[in-house]
Amino acid sequence: MKSAKPCRVCKAAGSGFLCTTPNEHSEQTELEHYRCAECGSVFVGNEIGGEELGQAYATLNTKAYYEEIASENRKKMLNAIEHLQELIPRSASVLDLGTGNGQFVERLHEAGFTDLSAHEIPGADLSGIEPITQSLFQDFDYASVPSDRFDAVTLLDVVEHVPEPQHLMDACHRVLRPGGVLYFHTPVVTRTDRLMHRAQRLPVLNKIGRAWQRGRTSIFHLENYTPKALSLILARAGFGDVAVRVRNELSWPVSRYVRVYLLEKQRLPGFLTPLLTPLLYPVLATDFFNGNKSIVSARKLAI
Ligand SMILES: [Zn+2]
Repeated sequence: MKSAKPCRVCKAAGSGFLCTTPNEHSEQTELEHYRCAECGSVFVGNEIGGEELGQAYATLNTKAYYEEIASENRKKMLNAIEHLQELIPRSASVLDLGTGNGQFVERLHEAGFTDLSAHEIPGADLSGIEPITQSLFQDFDYASVPSDRFDAVTLLDVVEHVPEPQHLMDACHRVLRPGGVLYFHTPVVTRTDRLMHRAQRLPVLNKIGRAWQRGRTSIFHLENYTPKALSLILARAGFGDVAVRVRNELSWPVSRYVRVYLLEKQRLPGFLTPLLTPLLYPVLATDFFNGNKSIVSARKLAI
């Protein structure tokens, strides 16, 4: 049994060890997963610096990745824009933080938002969105982004990638004007996750439990939050009016998860896919068992 670790999210001591999984994307070949006894977040406990993360991302074929999830991603972005329009006018100044290939900025531009800026780590090519943005910022610590500048900061599937979630929330708070809106999507721990945590301690089933965990937390998804954890780090950063909605969101059809994660990784035959898919549908594709995505909004309190 590994020793307890402080929580990567809320910093409470004494998170319980869950399991280890292999990692082929950086120099640490094994990742340790923990669950915080205080906030319930599940996280990778290894020390992982910016350099190692860069090394890991360099092993990914990001173009193929974005193409694969393009249609689900488009739906997600259109939903986000609908939510945003309830919170801010289209004339609001918006910073898309962790913009990736800039797709969300393009969708915002199409939807009529006029004052757009974006942030990404150095090395990313943001030239495609240069003509439709006011400012582009590229650094590791957000220091180049001016304080009290934006009416809204958006982060679509970014918050789970950072080693220091509180540092990110503090930075978002700093760059927003008083009264400004923070809006983000990030994965949260589900009932199915908790069943799998139990499976990880059982003979035979522990293999499935570990395979599941590998798909949930990894060097690319350093933590899965809980609504409690999100509320806590937002409050610590100085945000109020926190709203956390949770729902099921999958990037692939259920049959593909069954084939890739359950059958191929365990070297089981593919013909089991149509048999297992209906059985696993409820634990994978329903809000009740697998409400895996949180949609969060908060406001920087006016002083
Ligand atoms: Zn915690």
